[in-house]
Amino acid sequence: MRRLDRETVDRIAAGEVVTRPARVVEELVENALDAGAERIEIEVDGDGTERIRVADDGRGMSADEAELAVERHTTSKLPDCDLTAVETLGFRGEALASIADVARMTLTTNDGGPRGTSVHVDGAGPRSAGSRPAAGDDVTVDSAGRGRGTTVEVRDLFHNRPARVESLAAPATEFERISDRVAAYALLRPDVALSLEHDGRRVFATPGSGDAADAALSVYGREVARESTTVDATATATVGDEKATVELRGLLAYPSITRASADHVRIAVNGRPVSVPALRRAVERGYGSLLAGDRHPVVALAVSLPPWAVDPNVHPTKQTVALRAADAVAGVVEDAVSDALSTADLRRSADVAMDLDAALDPVDTAASALDDATVLGRFRDLYLLCEADDDLLVIDQHAAHERINYERLRAAVESEGVESVPLDPPATLSLSPGQVAAVESHADELERLGFDCEPFGGGTVRVRAVPAPLGRVAAPDTLESTLTALREGEDPNRRDELLADLACHPSLKAGDELTDDDAAALVERLGACEQPFACPHGRPTVLAIDEGHLARGFERHPRRG
Ligand code: ADP
Ligand code: MG
Repeated sequence: MRRLDRETVDRIAAGEVVTRPARVVEELVENALDAGAERIEIEVDGDGTERIRVADDGRGMSADEAELAVERHTTSKLPDCDLTAVETLGFRGEALASIADVARMTLTTNDGGPRGTSVHVDGAGPRSAGSRPAAGDDVTVDSAGRGRGTTVEVRDLFHNRPARVESLAAPATEFERISDRVAAYALLRPDVALSLEHDGRRVFATPGSGDAADAALSVYGREVARESTTVDATATATVGDEKATVELRGLLAYPSITRASADHVRIAVNGRPVSVPALRRAVERGYGSLLAGDRHPVVALAVSLPPWAVDPNVHPTKQTVALRAADAVAGVVEDAVSDALSTADLRRSADVAMDLDAALDPVDTAASALDDATVLGRFRDLYLLCEADDDLLVIDQHAAHERINYERLRAAVESEGVESVPLDPPATLSLSPGQVAAVESHADELERLGFDCEPFGGGTVRVRAVPAPLGRVAAPDTLESTLTALREGEDPNRRDELLADLACHPSLKAGDELTDDDAAALVERLGACEQPFACPHGRPTVLAIDEGHLARGFERHPRRG
């Protein structure tokens, strides 16, 4: 532990570190993680200004170190002031001092010796920003009994900063921020057992097993843990002239579980939960068409990069980092997410709920899941019932058609074009002048999509042929929505949506009775899709009822008569 020199301080000084109670929790949890803790207990009273206590079983500090630690710009984490080699979460050496400035803080610590040390610092009255704590005068040091590890208790936060208190949100909101931040550490570091208590009541506690699904079970509950898959991948990204090894570890909830906001896409870079929009977008691109347009997934993804590829020193409260070659890293992230989802082999069948709501699980297993599906029959001309191993599958005919149409259209657009059938006689559509102009400017694309059409004067267009993917003939008016979509630009996501909309056009969907052969063919084609288990707009195509559900419902033991 040492004082940083002036020059280094100037490079890293951050300004105001403690702006709200959640910031205290973040800094203390990061210190505990840096100390190699395997168990971290967090207790919060009220909105956090009353009391925050973080206890860890990390390596602790000696008496001398403890006394130095609460001074400003003292750290054990920048051995040679080299910011490009930071492998810890902390490096500025100002968190403990900043907290002590605005609260009453007691640090009790032991590095494994017979006695521990307790350091109490009482935040002095209001001080002008940037002035150093009056060394010694408000610091008390004692010896204290404690096993190896460190406990920091912070009381009366902002007692000497009335303006800060004013700017806090309602207590429930401040606690929500705290719990959201702790959840992020818990999900992104499943190897550490984290627990959070609020006003004496346990909010959650993770087991520290190292398995992201166990952490998700503790934080989110059974549904998310069951409806998700893990990622564990190593890839290489080109950063400047060098190759960087990128490790990706985490949890991806299936598209059957989504959220209206992106707050549950949690990403850590080198162990710190950060907000890096480029990486969040990469994760969402990895879900691709599995996600309905306005929905966001539930994800915890820890990205590890060599320290030289990351600058952690770009934000006063370390909420984000700068990546060298962010695009290359984003590409790696997108691929890993998309691979993990397409090979996902999940539905943890153990410990499933017995209520019937939960009995129908959207299926998200590997593509081979439909290989051995046998059609048993149909229900209301809408659903196909199939047998597959221990599951009874219910396939939504419409959704299945949409998925198949969509993949066909996409493949066709990329190669020889969509199958098309002539209209005899041709249809005539009245369109706006802009749409008529688009018929000419997008002529190639329309042809690849299976349209044969041309302006016919007076705001009309003559349609001579329409797309017919899967032998189903599109209605001539699909041209209109296709033109609207084409005019909205060159954005590749918009193109996917265009195909998805076209694939879902009512005229292309099966509503009528299928023969047994048709039904079998539909299931086979669905199984051959790249992503069989969601329609192009992200809704499930297949639900599964595990035999165990039925057995339990009928109060039998599965497979034992
Ligand atoms: P930083 O983390 O940037 O070094 P802090 O003010 O947060 O700055 O902590 C100062 C120093 O105190 C750290 O470098 C570390 O050596 C020590 N320290 C703080 N918290 C703990 C802890 N929970 N366990 C062990 N050492 C700690
Ligand atoms: Mg720190």
